[in-house]
Amino acid sequence: MELDGRALAERIRAREAPRLEALRRQGIHPSLLSIEVGENPSSESYLRGQRRGAEAWGIEYRMQRLPASSTEDDVRDALAEAAADARVTGILLQCPLPSGLSARALQHEIPPHKDVEGVHPENLGTVVHGRPRLAPCTAMAVMELVASSGLALQGCEAVVVGHSEIVGKPVALLLLAQDATTTVCHKFTKDLASHTRRADLLVVAVGKARLVTADMVKPGAVVVDVGINAVRDPKDPAKTVIVGDVDTAALLAKGCAVSPVPGGVGPVTVAMLLRNTLVAAERAYSDPEAETPPLFPDL
Ligand code: NAP
Repeated sequence: MELDGRALAERIRAREAPRLEALRRQGIHPSLLSIEVGENPSSESYLRGQRRGAEAWGIEYRMQRLPASSTEDDVRDALAEAAADARVTGILLQCPLPSGLSARALQHEIPPHKDVEGVHPENLGTVVHGRPRLAPCTAMAVMELVASSGLALQGCEAVVVGHSEIVGKPVALLLLAQDATTTVCHKFTKDLASHTRRADLLVVAVGKARLVTADMVKPGAVVVDVGINAVRDPKDPAKTVIVGDVDTAALLAKGCAVSPVPGGVGPVTVAMLLRNTLVAAERAYSDPEAETPPLFPDL
């Protein structure tokens, strides 16, 4: 079975629509500002998704492009301006940044209540506490895809391959918060297959085409493939195609539930970004210390 991310993103939009209506009734208009430094071809698809998604959801969206030659201070100034602008309720700094600019240092300049990508240490801290407010969008997208598969997480063997700050680590914490027995694998893991074969749930977020082959996965496992890799098109070697980190067709043939690439994690990540934009707008006009309702009420 394929875990259809496009269909899930639509269901999330319908689920969250009353939230946007409630904000509008109060005269609050969520507005997302996406800042890109220079022009990076690998960001194009995400930027397109943001614009299309915001349009479909009815959320105001603006893209600000700074010159590729911008210094860290230039980017800081743009972020400070957006932070001070009450009309902007959510800010995202598009990564990767040109070399010489520190994504981590700059992301920390976004005020936590406008940090719709959930990358500020204060927001990441709420993930550690198991009470996420604005959590990293891709990590939340993984959780939504898992929920859509119907897999019961309590006590299940979950294996996460990759431990980046925006995907692998927060996914592992979100899974732990749902009482899954969670293993995290990385570049120095000695025998990757011995871990992946145990998994009822396998999340792969590395960026290596076909890292996970059918012999490495238990029949019937739920597999969420986060990877995005441009590889030569086997039908036309002059072209490239986008694939994930797992051998999707072989895993489907083994009875696994697999999120395809493209059309799996990507569209749900955009839906989570827009959902975070609504949460940020709600918080901007309410008590910032108030508890946020659980992110995954259905789990
Ligand atoms: P990243 O920061 O490069 O992290 C990759 C992780 O994989 C690191 O923890 C690395 O370990 C680990 N790794 C590298 N080689 C490995 C191996 N052979 N076996 C096991 N682990 C290995 O990447 P990321 O930002 O997490 O993104 C991962 C992939 O997901 C990329 O393809 C990216 O494009 C994609 N992505 C997709 C979306 C989406 O919305 N669809 C969003 C974000 C990212 P070390 O740290 O030890 O090197």
